[in-house]
Amino acid sequence: MRALLEGLLTVLKHLFIKPVTLEYPEKKRYQSDNFRGKLVVEGCVGCGVCKKVCPSGAIEYTKNEQGKVVSYTFDLNKCIFCGNCMYYCPHKVINMTSEFELATTEKTDLKLTYKGGVND
Ligand code: SF4
Ligand code: SF4
Repeated sequence: MRALLEGLLTVLKHLFIKPVTLEYPEKKRYQSDNFRGKLVVEGCVGCGVCKKVCPSGAIEYTKNEQGKVVSYTFDLNKCIFCGNCMYYCPHKVINMTSEFELATTEKTDLKLTYKGGVND
């Protein structure tokens, strides 16, 4: 009986307290400017630094015969969102956006491929 009353009291108390949860996805929390979400790249010159500093081997890119990068892929199946690629890119062409809703049922959807600066 005592436990029941305590439970009831807790419920009543919380009727007058501001909720700590949000009605996601309608409402979303403020995100820090330093949030490390979806990776984007634009203007890569193919120097290779990002591949060297990526601890999980999540980056691949291909060049054409002229040495121009034609396709650049972040494999989010491997990526740990450490940010190394963004911090160490000497040309500052990688950005980590605030987008975090990346869940999918297809593993292939987790390969973010950019061609000519546009997500393919
Ligand atoms: S470090 Fe930057 S410029 Fe160099 S290959 Fe990676 S994304 Fe491209
Ligand atoms: S965030 Fe880290 S793990 Fe992900 S691609 Fe960049 S360096 Fe690799």
